[in-house]
Amino acid sequence: MSLDFDVFVVDPKPIPSAVPGFEEAVGAATWPQTTSTLIMDDDGALLVDCLITEQEGRELATWVKSHDCEPGYVYITHPHADHFLGLTEILAVFPQARPVALAGSIPAMQEQTSPAYMQVWGGFFPGQLTANPVSPEPLAGATIPIGGSTGTVIPVGTTDTGHSSVVHVPGLSLVVSGDAVYNQTHMWLAGSTTDSRASWARALEAVAALEADTLIAGHRNPLAADDDAHRQIEESRRYLADFETALEHSSTPPDLIARMTATYPDLANPYTLWVAAYDLLGSRT
Ligand SMILES: [Zn+2]
Repeated sequence: MSLDFDVFVVDPKPIPSAVPGFEEAVGAATWPQTTSTLIMDDDGALLVDCLITEQEGRELATWVKSHDCEPGYVYITHPHADHFLGLTEILAVFPQARPVALAGSIPAMQEQTSPAYMQVWGGFFPGQLTANPVSPEPLAGATIPIGGSTGTVIPVGTTDTGHSSVVHVPGLSLVVSGDAVYNQTHMWLAGSTTDSRASWARALEAVAALEADTLIAGHRNPLAADDDAHRQIEESRRYLADFETALEHSSTPPDLIARMTATYPDLANPYTLWVAAYDLLGSRT
């Protein structure tokens, strides 16, 4: 087997709605479809990100095993728990795998696994999360082994959270982007600022400069046509610019939601947009 990759996908999950009127207007609130990527060669494998619930972690471990390879490393792209609480289940099945992340992201990952944050995440997924969350260790250097091959870790700064990174595998013309790029899914902009959104736009330029053909986004529209890197980066870039303009012209959450929904009627997970709108423009109506 030469260098290859495969993607594990979990479907959108229902969550309790925390914004007024969403369920009446749109339907059940959801967490978007989320991916985990296995990259492998003859000598071993690298798993990038590993989902959030215990059940997902177990299913992911079984799926990895079905590829008949052992991950030497598990890389976590950014410090959001929906991409790494499943690590506990992965390490239970692959205890030799080394979980690693950018050194700068580790404190934020440890914060995500603190009792206070676990309570927040538990509110989204009650009774479904591990009682023993694990944080990765700092990755030394900028490369990561994929069996006998290597990938490059590219820090991209603040995207939907600080200390984000992507994994570039030139041998496959592949980028695994975590949440630096979204695939036809509303982007997480709750808690964002003008500066953080500008940083995210710069991160997209850095990903574009890699000139990869294929990009696996952490969150994907189940109806997305493909994993074309150029399309996803351009669409994410345009979404950020359109959001900035819509925000400037909106004074209430419904204004912002209406503008963005008119421009993006078919993006997955509109709940993400509603959360951002109520976070950034308060509950004024
Ligand atoms: Zn995410």
